[in-house]
Amino acid sequence: MSRPRTDTLIIGGGLHGLSAALHLARAGLRVSVLEESWVGRHASGASAAGVRTLNRHLAELPIALEALDMWHHIEAIVGDHCAFRPDGQINVAEFSHQVRVLEKRLAMTRAAGYEHVELIDREELRRLVPAISPHCVAALIARRDGAADPHRTLRAFRRSAEAAGATIYERCGVTAIERVGSEWRVRAGRSDFTAPTIVNAAGAWAAKIAQMVGDDIPLGHKASMMMVTERLAPFLKPTVSAVGRTLSFKQTDRGTLVLGGGLQGRADVEAQASFVDFTELSKGARAAVDLFPSVDRVRVVRTWTGIEAKTDDLLPVIGPSPRADGVYYAFGFSGHGFELVPVVGAILADLIVRGSTERQIEAFSASRLINERVAA
Ligand SMILES: Cc1cc2nc3c(=O)[nH]c(=O)nc-3n(C[C@H](O)[C@H](O)[C@H](O)COP(=O)(O)OP(=O)(O)OC[C@H]3O[C@@H](n4cnc5c(N)ncnc54)[C@H](O)[C@@H]3O)c2cc1C
Repeated sequence: MSRPRTDTLIIGGGLHGLSAALHLARAGLRVSVLEESWVGRHASGASAAGVRTLNRHLAELPIALEALDMWHHIEAIVGDHCAFRPDGQINVAEFSHQVRVLEKRLAMTRAAGYEHVELIDREELRRLVPAISPHCVAALIARRDGAADPHRTLRAFRRSAEAAGATIYERCGVTAIERVGSEWRVRAGRSDFTAPTIVNAAGAWAAKIAQMVGDDIPLGHKASMMMVTERLAPFLKPTVSAVGRTLSFKQTDRGTLVLGGGLQGRADVEAQASFVDFTELSKGARAAVDLFPSVDRVRVVRTWTGIEAKTDDLLPVIGPSPRADGVYYAFGFSGHGFELVPVVGAILADLIVRGSTERQIEAFSASRLINERVAA
C-alpha cells in the first residue's frame, strides 16, 4: 500500500523521534513517525528520566544546558509538566581522597566557562540530604537539575506532536529504504512511504537503518538496569550519585525509591530483549544502603532493563548523514539522552527546515564514527 507523501519520515517512536516530530510539525512540515513496536517501547519507556547536566561531557554542555532551560518551561512546550521536579542532582564524595575528584571536575567545568555546578561541604550536604550516611564528606551539586516521569513525558510529547499534525504509525517497522529520484522510499510493514527527508531515531537499531542508506556506523549497546522499591514517607528530594559507585538514587512523588545509574544487564538486540543480572544489580542495592543506611530493610518491588545504542566516545550522533542527502541522525545517546530530548528535536528542525543550526553540534557528527569502506 502506498501512503500519502510527507515532508519528513521519522524512524523510531521513542522520545527523540517524538521530539523531532513535534518541532518539525510545528515548523509546518508534514511528518510521519514510523515505530516498529509502540511508542516508548524501548529506552524511552525504561528510562530513569534524570534531567542531569552534572558531570556531563563538556561537548554536550551547551545543548544540555539549553535543554535544562527547556525542562524548566516544559509545560509551555508540551502542555504538561511531565512531573519534572528541579530538586537538583548531587554527586557525593564518601571519603576525603575523593574530594579531589570533585574539585578537578569543578575546575574543568569552570575553566570552560560554566557556572552551573558548585562544591558543597558536609554541612550543606546534610542540610539538603538529611538521610545521607554521616561518613559522606562533600558533594558536587547542579541545583537546577532534576528528574521527570518518563511515561508522562512520552504521553505529553506524543499528544503535542499529534496536535501539531504529526501522524504516528505503530507496529510499522522499517525494513528497506531506497532512493527514487530526489525522494526516499521507505518500506514499513506492508506500506511504502515517500519523503525527501528522513530522521533516523531508531535507538539501539539505528545502525541497521543507517546501513540502509549506505552509512556504516559502528554502535555498541547498553542494557541499563533499574529497580524500584515499595513506597516510603518522603525523605529525599535531589537525585544522588556517588564517586566510584554505579548508582543513581532518588525518591519519586509517590514515595517509591528508584535506583539506577548504569549497572548493566544483558541484551539480545536482534530479539529486542534484555535481561536483569541480579548479581550485578545487587551492587546498586549495596551502594544505596551504604549511602542511606535507613533503607536497608526496604523491599524492591520491580526491576527492569532497557536497550539503547552506545558510541565509542559516549557522545550521541546528531546531524546530517555525510553521504545520504536528506537523511538526519539522532541516536547513540549512550545512557543519557533523556535530558536532551527537548533540544534535539529543535536542532533537527533547524537542520531540516533552515539547512543549518547555530547550536553547537560539531562533536556529534556521524563522520567521526563512520567506517569508510576500503576500496578493493
Ligand atoms: C534503564 C535506563 C535508564 C536511563 N536513565 C536515564 C536518565 O536518568 N537520564 C537520561 O538523560 N537518560 C537516561 N537514559 C537514556 C534515555 O532514556 C535514552 O537516551 C532515550 O530515551 C533514547 O530515546 P530514543 O528515542 O533515542 O530511543 P528509544 O526510546 O529506544 O526509541 C527508538 C525506537 O525506535 C524503534 N525502532 C527501532 N528499529 C525500528 C525500525 N526498523 N522501524 C521503526 N522503528 C524502529 C524502537 O522500537 C524504539 O521505540 C536511560 C536509559 C535506560 C535504558
